[in-house]
Amino acid sequence: MSTDVLVLNRNFYAIHITNWRRALSLLYLDHARVVDEEYHTYNFSDWRELSNLIKDHPAGFVHTPTFKIAIPDVIALRAYDQVPAAEIKFTRRNIYEHYGYHCCYCGKKFQTKDLNLEHIVPSSRGGQSTWNNVVTSCIPCNIKKGDCLPHEAGMKLLIEPSRPRWKGAQSLVLPTFIKFKASWQKFIDNVYWDSEIEE
Ligand SMILES: [Zn+2]
Repeated sequence: MSTDVLVLNRNFYAIHITNWRRALSLLYLDHARVVDEEYHTYNFSDWRELSNLIKDHPAGFVHTPTFKIAIPDVIALRAYDQVPAAEIKFTRRNIYEHYGYHCCYCGKKFQTKDLNLEHIVPSSRGGQSTWNNVVTSCIPCNIKKGDCLPHEAGMKLLIEPSRPRWKGAQSLVLPTFIKFKASWQKFIDNVYWDSEIEE
């Protein structure tokens, strides 16, 4: 079984793959947390404690003189890591990241499944799919706004549309020699998220 570890950024977006040594060191230094299949996260001491209770672990354990620790499948970084500068593509993923998974109308933070993209000037009224006209919105705000302009629906944008200035997260490119783990699947299903939205 492979001991490669999938690395996510703090929004649980897969950014690269590392080896177990690096993963455990990131965990130990509290730069990363272990992520399980239910999206629970564990710091080093929690994970070490849990490792004592696990009997079977596909990726195996690392034994030290005083404790054993399971090799995680997936870790999430606690801060953004630096990624190469690139023109930030107008993708669903980047739009969600840009607004920090907030609804731009009510300002609350949501899970990805409870957010969608919202044209400020509706497409039916000539609104373009651009950074300046598309924001993230929760479903209730989206329904409330419908095909209106914000003021027509009695709504106000709490977060104004803008172009991102941060360096966009790269898509994960899986090297072909890496053995794909089933537990990674939910984190690297990028087709929907990373395809460019037509302007
Ligand atoms: Zn909302």
